[in-house]
Amino acid sequence: MRDLVIIGSGPAGYTAAIYGARAELKPLVIASSVAMGGDLMTTTEVDNFPGFPQGVMGPELMMNMQAQAERFGAEMVFDDATKLELAGPVKKITLGNGDVIEAKTVVLAMGSEYRKLGLADEARLSGFGVSWCATCDGAFYRNRAVAVIGGGDSAMEEATFLTRFADTVYIVHRSDTFRASPAMLARAQADPKIQFITNAKVTGVLGGETVAGITLENADGSTRVLDVEGLFIAIGSDPRTSLVADQVDLTAEGNIAVEGRSSQTSLPGVFAAGDIIDPTYRQAIVAAGSGAVAALDAQHFLESNAH
Ligand code: NDP
Repeated sequence: MRDLVIIGSGPAGYTAAIYGARAELKPLVIASSVAMGGDLMTTTEVDNFPGFPQGVMGPELMMNMQAQAERFGAEMVFDDATKLELAGPVKKITLGNGDVIEAKTVVLAMGSEYRKLGLADEARLSGFGVSWCATCDGAFYRNRAVAVIGGGDSAMEEATFLTRFADTVYIVHRSDTFRASPAMLARAQADPKIQFITNAKVTGVLGGETVAGITLENADGSTRVLDVEGLFIAIGSDPRTSLVADQVDLTAEGNIAVEGRSSQTSLPGVFAAGDIIDPTYRQAIVAAGSGAVAALDAQHFLESNAH
């Protein structure tokens, strides 16, 4: 049986792995079959992670975290957890390949997943003009017009990045107040390639095989078609709790509930870290810090339950 299994390989999961490995818990990281490294794998420069005065590329940062965890003995499994049985002293983790791993403690660090608009053609045209990742798909839109939906930092960041390729980037936001930080909003507002459309709701995605436009509804009920070939959805994300929602307590916002400043969930031996517990800050450095907390909590739990 494992001392510590960590589910997730973003900054929270890898930092928990570094701390867990250094405490000689030989952690196993269930790192995902397709999304190992988490959201930073699809970003470019990260300029606000301390220790990198010139910035660092997101994938490089994550690969360094993985290497640092492996240096101290953490092991990686590049598969998904498909079932978790967390009650009782022996936790069971079922993987996509059917293997079942047993552990004394588990750190839940599955992060969050992008929100969808919920439009009829959104899924059908996903990958054919509808995207949640400008760094992945932006280069397809050289000299084209694209729309970014949302009014938070993600929308500003996606739009600013897309100006490298697109001629025109519309930021379409459902109100005229922005959650984005003043600095990121100001940078987008100052960009001559970015046009803001506020108080507008996206009501449809047009196009047969690829996106050929979107329909917008204004506050007064009038509608218009916006001619774009790309639709980048940046309307936030929700914690990825589906595997555990019926086992651990959640908060009103849908995050995993933890006790005070600790990572302790409602189940003994089960700890949570990163975006899955965080409705507010959602920063790589905050997730990394909470990963360290989770590994320390798991270590103390194991010490006080050692026979
Ligand atoms: P946010 O929750 O901050 O913003 C989501 C935006 O999408 C809001 O403007 C919201 O509008 C809008 N929205 C939500 N649902 C819908 C919907 N169904 N239809 C249309 N619009 C919708 O999410 P972000 O992903 O932008 O940011 C999350 C966190 O990550 C924040 O803490 C942010 O600071 C951080 N972040 C930091 C970055 C950085 O520092 N470099 C980069 C990216 C993110 P409304 O306001 O009307 O609810």
